[in-house]
Parts: sequence; structure tokens; C-alpha cells
Amino acid sequence: MRDLKMKSADELKALSKELRKDLLIKHNESKIAHIGSDLSCLDILIALHFEIMGDDDRFVLSKGHSALALYSVLHKKRIIDDNTYDSLGKDGSRLGEHPLYGTEGIEIATGSLGHGLSVAAGIALSKERNKEKGKVYVLLSDGECQEGSTLEAMNFVGINKIKSLIAIVDSNKWQAFDRTLLGEERIKEEFAAAGWNVVEIDGHDYESIIRVFEAKNEGPLLIVAHTVLGKGVKSMEDRLESHYRPPTKEQIEEFDEEL
Ligand SMILES: [Mg+2]
Repeated sequence: MRDLKMKSADELKALSKELRKDLLIKHNESKIAHIGSDLSCLDILIALHFEIMGDDDRFVLSKGHSALALYSVLHKKRIIDDNTYDSLGKDGSRLGEHPLYGTEGIEIATGSLGHGLSVAAGIALSKERNKEKGKVYVLLSDGECQEGSTLEAMNFVGINKIKSLIAIVDSNKWQAFDRTLLGEERIKEEFAAAGWNVVEIDGHDYESIIRVFEAKNEGPLLIVAHTVLGKGVKSMEDRLESHYRPPTKEQIEEFDEEL
């Protein structure tokens, strides 16, 4: 896995363009929803999987509706093979709209929101107690930060000072059919009050993303990543309908033109 580790931000940006195009095509063909959410968190997933994480680290995708973004990264890393990736969205495939436990590279089944932080906290606490190396990364949606189970896990992590846990919030300011209920300021306040170290980054800027992951932050750490729903296709950016509506052929061409 480490042999595919990339070095420069330019290489990561090129990979981001390649996987964005790939995702637009996959969503168009399969008619699976949530392209907007895939495009908001894709740069974070790329930075984590190609630059930051090593063999001792673990990753939990709490916002399971971004499964296709994770599949595209795992496929590029050759963790998901070509045949499996080609089957995406088809009858009998293990790769559906939300991740299934037992699929290569997938830690837990998610999609029903509000569970990923609890599971990641348990994995991280277990690692610490067993004196195992590595960190646990969990990617949350901003919408699921309002869930009671997320807030309970947030307090559990703060009280137990689980330093090996790093949570990233994909702060695209949308949840399903509306703006987020809690809002970004409230999310930051809640986590800080629970004893987390809270930092903010531009979730589409690789220098910014990698800098924050490589900094010697005292955990538990919450990274609030400012992102744009549908990032990369102007007619989809920050638009409610890109949460559910798959991209059209015209929107794929629009992305090509912007390249
Ligand atoms: Mg959101």
C-alpha cells in the first residue's frame, strides 16, 4: 500500500481530477445518488489514503452515503479489484450505495448516520489499551453531528482522552434536503466543550489538508474541513439537488470543459 504513496500536491490534484471524472461516470451509469457528497469529501479521502495513512492506521467512513468516493480510492489503490469495481451498482455486486462489512477495505457497514464515531472510538481505545501503533481516522458528515449517538461518542472520547482518534467533518453545509441543523459554529463549540482540539482547513486544498494531518496535534482532534457539495462541476456546486440527483451526460461534459 505504501508503494503507491504520492508526494506532491500536483500529483494529488491530478488524481482528484481522474477520480472525479470516474465518479461522475459511475453515478451517471448506476443512477446511484449522493454524487454531491462524494465530491465534497473526495480530496480528504485521497489525502488520507494516498499520503497520510499507513498500515497501522484504520479508517471508518461514517457518512456511508459517500461509499462510491471510497470505492474509487480503494480501487485506485488496488484494494478493490477491477472486476468488483466494474460490478458497482449492478445486481449481485458487493458495491452498493452504502458500504457493506466484509468488502475489501471497508471497516464497518454505514449509511444509517450517527454510528461511525462510536465504532471508531472503540477501535481507538482498544488500540491504546493494547499499546498498538497507529491512529484511527473517521469521516463524519456535518449533518450527522446533530445525532444523539454522535454527541454521546463525542463526550465519551473527550472524557476518556482518546488521543489516537482523529475525526474529520465534511462541512459541506447541507444535510439531505436542507442546510445543516446544528451549523458549523455549533459543531465546533460542542466538540471543544467536550475536550477535543478543534482545527479548521480548506477541505479541497491538499497543502492545507496534509499540513493539518502531519502537525503534532494533541488528540482527540476534530478537523472541520470546509468543503463544497458537488465540488468540481459548477452546475452542481452548493446545490441541494446534487445530494440526490445523479449527474447528467451534460454535467460530465461540463466537468471535461473545466479541466
Ligand atoms: Mg453535509
